[in-house]
Parts: sequence; C-alpha cells; structure tokens
Amino acid sequence: MKVSSFPIFTLKGVPSEAEVPSHQLMIKSGMIRKLSSGQYSWYPLGYKIVKKIEEVIRQELNNIGCREILMPTVQPAELWQDSDRWDKYGPELLRFKDRNNRDFCLGPTFEEVITDLVKNDVSSYKNLPINLFQISSKFRDEIRPRFGVMRAREFIMKDAYSFHESSICLDKTYELYKTAYKRIFERLMLDYTIVDADSGNIGGDVSHEFHIIADIGEDDLLLDKNMNGMNIEIAKVKYSEHDLPKLIKKSGLTHKKGIEVGHIFKLGQKYSTKMGASVTSNKSEVIDMFMGCYGIGVTRIVAAAIEQNYDDKGIIWPSSLSPFNAAIIEIDGNKNKNVRSLAQKLYDIMQSKKIDVILDDRQVTFGNKSKDWELIGVPNIFIIGKKESEEQLITFQRRADNKKEFVKLDDIEKLLEKLSI
Ligand code: ATP
Ligand code: MG
Repeated sequence: MKVSSFPIFTLKGVPSEAEVPSHQLMIKSGMIRKLSSGQYSWYPLGYKIVKKIEEVIRQELNNIGCREILMPTVQPAELWQDSDRWDKYGPELLRFKDRNNRDFCLGPTFEEVITDLVKNDVSSYKNLPINLFQISSKFRDEIRPRFGVMRAREFIMKDAYSFHESSICLDKTYELYKTAYKRIFERLMLDYTIVDADSGNIGGDVSHEFHIIADIGEDDLLLDKNMNGMNIEIAKVKYSEHDLPKLIKKSGLTHKKGIEVGHIFKLGQKYSTKMGASVTSNKSEVIDMFMGCYGIGVTRIVAAAIEQNYDDKGIIWPSSLSPFNAAIIEIDGNKNKNVRSLAQKLYDIMQSKKIDVILDDRQVTFGNKSKDWELIGVPNIFIIGKKESEEQLITFQRRADNKKEFVKLDDIEKLLEKLSI
C-alpha cells in the first residue's frame, strides 16, 4: 500500500478531553475521530487494527465450533418485556418508538434476540449444543463515556451464545470458551489476567472476566502472586466489606487496576425459562435450555493494547496488532528519481514476500514522515534518501528502541528473514 491511496491524518495537538495516553494517541495518529459523545468513526489506519483483532477472534471461535451470524441492532421491546429486562436494564438502554408507536431499543447485548431466534428453530436435544457468535456494534447510553473507545456509547463487541440440554454440557463448553479466550489474548500478544467476576446486568451465577492490567483501568482487582484472583466487587459480596482489608493483608493479595476486555457467563436457564426456550430431552421430558454467553470488547482492546505499548514518541505496536509490518519512508522521492526507484525496489521485494508494507510517498519533509511513523508505531521502519540511493543502502530503524542501522540492498532479504515479518 502507498500513502497516496491510504490517507493518514496525523495531528500535532489533541483535544483536552483526551485524558489518557491511548485516547490521545488514537486521535493524534489519526485512527479515530469523534462524532459525538462516546461515538467514534474509524479511519482506515484504525479500522485495519480492529479487523486484525476480529480475525483472530473469528479463527479461534471457529476452532471450537462456534459459527458466525449477524442480528439486527434495533430490537423490539416485546422481547425485553418477556425477559423482564425492559424495566430493569435502566437508562443505558436507549429506547425509542417507530412510526407505528411501537417501542424499540438499540441492542446493548443480545440474549433476548438470540434466545428468540434459536427457540423457534430448535425443539429437540438432538440439535444441541449450538454455538453462535456475531461481531457487531452495540449501543449503551453510558452515564459517563470517557477515554475514547475504551468506554464508548457505540462500540464493537463480539458476543457468542451457547445452548445446551444440560448444565454438564454447558460446563464443558464454558471451559472451551475460556481456553479459546486465552488463545485469543495470547495471539494478540497482550498481558492479561482472568478473574472471578460478578455477572451484573446480564445475570447467571458463574462468570469470569479477562482484564488487561493498566493504571488507568476502571476495575479493581485482587490478585495473588500468580496473577489469579477476583474482581473486588465479588470479593465484597463474598467476604463483606468489613472483613476485606484483613483478608487482603493476610493472604498477601495485591490490588491492581484492570481494563475489562472479555467476560464469559454461565447463564443457566434464566432466559430460556422466561422466554419459553425449551427442548424435548432424550427421556421425552420438556426442559428449558441451558445457556452461556461470552463477550469480547473488540474496540476497547485497541485502546487497552496501546495503554500497554507506548513511549514518548507514540505507539509501539506488537506485531500481532500493528496496522502494517513495515513502513518505507522515501525522502524527496518526488524530486529524486533514484530515491523513488530504490524505494519502489524495496517495496516490490516486500510485496513479493507478502509483507504488509506501506510506502510513504507523500510530498512532506523527512522530519514529518519520521515523526508520523514513530507516532503510528509500525515496528519496522525503512528509510531511503539521497545517500542511501547513491550507495544502494537502506537505513533500518526498529521502533521498539529507535536504533538505526545501515543495510545493503543485497542483504535486505536476509534481514527480512531475521525479522520474520
Ligand atoms: P463495564 O463493566 O466495563 O461497563 P460490562 O461488564 O458492562 O463492562 P459486558 O456486558 O460484560 O460489559 O460486555 C462485554 C464486553 O464488552 C466487556 O468485557 C467490554 O470489553 C466491552 N464493553 C462493555 N461496555 C463497553 C463500552 N461502553 N465501551 C467499550 N467496550 C465496552
Ligand atoms: Mg462485564
């Protein structure tokens, strides 16, 4: 790709409302722009990262037999009345009427819609278990949207749902999701931890959260030496607020801040009983299906990953998430034919090796280009100017430590292999 056909819009300053590093860097590097409170548009640079995360999630869920679907964002009130959540969910549920005066809401989560979908097509245990997921926009009218896409009102979530004839089958499947989630966060190269959690508005009894440890996290976690532990909300219920400080001291737990990026729940029969989602068992009994639900905050992950990977120059993407594996900066390529042709040569070599590379062919100064790619955080930067073109050299800069070295064009393939990009 070339910047001439992949517009990037970096900024020098950031709006004062961007309080945390990830929000500042996402605006500055031109990944997102604000539409209104808690709503953001994604430019190609940012959206490419979202797509990378989605792809890893898709692969790992497909691996455990979970299949992708898509459900409508606007949901009829009747389903929420059936589940008793129309009144209970609170003002986060954005409600409105259509032209026929029927009540609707914007989907913050999809337990009602999926239960309604599946119950109409499944009537026998023989069809179970069923595992379905979607990756789509969710809307929650958050009281305090902040930190950009971290706590947005409109955001992309992956939500998966499982249906079973018994709690034993649900338990087994729940473990499959837990393992798939571990693989997802490992492949994304994120430093994460799993904690016992409170199931909040969604319901059910057993749930676990996946957190990225970061100082700006909004959740309080109690962790042991091995980084296992619980959300403080559940600790308060389990041990009472009064006994908690004593317990923390005695058991040597540490208090850390976390960003919740995933949450899995055993819902049991909560929704199926309320909404009449039953099947006939192998003993010809009618049983309400057992359900699980499993969420990942796709767009929140982008911000959380930046909180773990930045310096004073900008973002430092892990290779799993970087929008490009390599950037080529040509200095005055529009004026110097030799520079342009060497840059094109390197670009062709990388393309033939299927390296996801961007060539910066803009007519701006080297200083500006260099600052932009350091800010955007591409891990491998290749620089070609007059000196390089005369000596058939390339300057290679690794973003992680910003060290530069000269590489002969003849040796470039060896370097690319060494970098395994
Ligand atoms: P939080 O406690 O942060 O409000 P939640 O527990 O209400 O989140 P879930 O219902 O568990 O959220 O949703 C699944 C996932 O969706 C969360 O783990 C999180 O990663 C993501 N998510 C939830 N709310 C938001 C939001 N307002 N902006 C961005 N991502 C969100
Ligand atoms: Mg949650």
